[in-house]
Amino acid sequence: MTEHYDIIIIGSGAGGGTMARALSETSARILVLERGDFVPQEAENWDPDAVWRQLRYQTNEEWLDAAGRAFRPYTHYNVGGNTKFWGSVLYRLRREDFQAVQHLDGVSPAWPIDYETLAPYYERAERLYHVRGEVGDDPTEPPRGPYPHEPVPHSTGMAEIVEQLRQQGLHPSPLPLGVIRPGEPDGCVLCNTCNSFACKIHAKSEAEVCGIRPALQRPNVTLWTNARARRLVTDPSGRRLVAVDVERNGATVRVEAPLFVVACGAVNSAALLLQSANDRHPGGLANASGLVGKRYMAHLATMMEGFHPFRRNATVFQKTVAINDFYLRGPKADYPLGHIQAQGRTHGVMAQIVVPWIPLWAYEAWVARGVDWLAMSEDLPSVDNRVTVEPDGRIRLRYQPNNLGPHRALVKETERILKRLGFWLVVKHSHGSRNTTHQCGTVCFGTDPRQSVLDPFCRAHDVENLFVVDASFFPSSAAVNPGLTIAAQALRVADHMIEHDLS
Ligand SMILES: Cc1cc2nc3c(=O)[nH]c(=O)nc-3n(C[C@H](O)[C@H](O)[C@H](O)COP(=O)(O)OP(=O)(O)OC[C@H]3O[C@@H](n4cnc5c(N)ncnc54)[C@H](O)[C@@H]3O)c2cc1C
Ligand code: SF4
Repeated sequence: MTEHYDIIIIGSGAGGGTMARALSETSARILVLERGDFVPQEAENWDPDAVWRQLRYQTNEEWLDAAGRAFRPYTHYNVGGNTKFWGSVLYRLRREDFQAVQHLDGVSPAWPIDYETLAPYYERAERLYHVRGEVGDDPTEPPRGPYPHEPVPHSTGMAEIVEQLRQQGLHPSPLPLGVIRPGEPDGCVLCNTCNSFACKIHAKSEAEVCGIRPALQRPNVTLWTNARARRLVTDPSGRRLVAVDVERNGATVRVEAPLFVVACGAVNSAALLLQSANDRHPGGLANASGLVGKRYMAHLATMMEGFHPFRRNATVFQKTVAINDFYLRGPKADYPLGHIQAQGRTHGVMAQIVVPWIPLWAYEAWVARGVDWLAMSEDLPSVDNRVTVEPDGRIRLRYQPNNLGPHRALVKETERILKRLGFWLVVKHSHGSRNTTHQCGTVCFGTDPRQSVLDPFCRAHDVENLFVVDASFFPSSAAVNPGLTIAAQALRVADHMIEHDLS
């Protein structure tokens, strides 16, 4: 049996969940397809062993790397997508990120829209995702009004570090965070199991809580869980999509609609388009440019822990400060290095995954004396970094990180800062070429159909009723967390659909 809706949204993460919420206000009959299920609210949500050793919530799927070796990507298929597990650091891109910027390894390309175009949608996205922060301290903050909520206060230990950072001549600023009513009854309890964990009490601003659940309150929105889009089907001309084939409860069902939003995340959206090749689109759907799946980016990210044997770290919620002094240029270089942010507390189990032979008690003693940071730099779009689909349907990710020099310089600079804070030792770890947490860029937007797959409203140049609204559209990765930008663009695209009566 074929079912019919007015709009089909595929994926329920930052892009899809926000789209669903925005379009739920219309009278359109909306179907959200999500390949995973709801993450249950259970004790394991906050159990480091369940999350990090048993990988309870991570997909079992295997992808192949450039060499053809199988690996289990650090990604999550469930209602809310990866936002369920994010650290909820919700940054606006810097104004310069929308412009062409010279980096050491090449130019980070301009976006087809400027900061001012997205600013009103950032404001709405910040309200939707309850963002907390403070304007004034961040030297790279783009022009903006106040945050909807006060920043999360620093713990005593982090407040001391912030003061010492200022004494070093740096400009530490409150990290913009999406946590709901911290400290209030039923609100966020500011625990130490936030980043990479699901929030057991639904106090994290993520796409299930802020997007899907409110959308489902409306009678016109339907969610199918465990429903995986397998193939998009066009009319004979190839100009319009007519249906999607969905694998659900062991069977394939066809669902028709006049409008489609693909929001499966940067890797899976590209894979779905490639798998939907047909006579009119032999290289993959909407792929006349040849760019679908190419220009994969994921940020260069290094976790860093400052360790001092005689200083116990009493902070529970640690992730409250950022340093953007080197975002636009380094102390010794006229090109950008990137962004530094405090991270959630490391748990012994997390460290033991990296070097398993050291006993857990030793790690626990270690991490109790550590303060955690993340150094993050921009990687540049390259057509050689790409997602493809193997003949057996498996995803292949070829990713050779570039722009490494500035990242090394940023890590070195962060190490210097931490040593000046008195830490004896700085431990570092990076996911390298299997980094998928900040995946983006595989279905990029732009004005020129030869150089982009989507137009500036994320509509496919080649297929008039197909929109791709997730991290895929990024022409460059910038060096702050991507989530708020995905949500802001989703709100912009939804407005565009409503204004043009597409919905
Ligand atoms: C541990 C972790 C921490 C992070 N921390 C931050 C942070 O602090 N701040 C930040 O901004 N970003 C953070 N990120 C990144 C952020 O989560 C992603 O950038 C964001 O979720 C991407 O949104 P998306 O809509 O592109 O994809 P996703 O949110 O991943 O959503 C894609 C959805 O599509 C579904 N799907 C995929 N294929 C199909 C299919 N064929 N059919 C049906 N459904 C499908 C998936 O199951 C998923 O629900 C973090 C990521 C991780 C993993
Ligand atoms: S209670 Fe707050 S800090 Fe803990 S997981 Fe939920 S949102 Fe994160």
